[in-house]
Amino acid sequence: MVTQARSVPPDLGDKHRILNNHEPSWWLRLQLDALVAGWEANGVRACKDIRRNPGHDVGVTALYRRDALACSDCLDVFRLKGSPDHECDRCHEQFDTLAGVVYDTHLEGMRLLVMFGLCPGCEAKEISQ
Ligand SMILES: [Zn+2]
Ligand SMILES: [Zn+2]
Repeated sequence: MVTQARSVPPDLGDKHRILNNHEPSWWLRLQLDALVAGWEANGVRACKDIRRNPGHDVGVTALYRRDALACSDCLDVFRLKGSPDHECDRCHEQFDTLAGVVYDTHLEGMRLLVMFGLCPGCEAKEISQ
């Protein structure tokens, strides 16, 4: 079977591990539910392109910037200012290095890429499930 390589914004593909056809763990499922519930309750800060064209085909968000939704041209919103973030998004402990992960999923017809950082232990738990 030939599968079409789906393009990921280059900024993400270079630095992140992409989870395609990934069965989310209970933890990741909870995060996605909370993310969507937060958007429904408080709204989401979408970039100008998505505001202008709500049928935009790819949206990017992050578990460390849950209120933001950006197209692949507006990823600057996720660039962390000041000292780099060393907090694992799953266990909330501090680590020297975190694995950048992108969960590739769909939400109401839009392809949604969800970025987060995991420590080695949490990465093993998420990926092995
Ligand atoms: Zn945009
Ligand atoms: Zn962790």
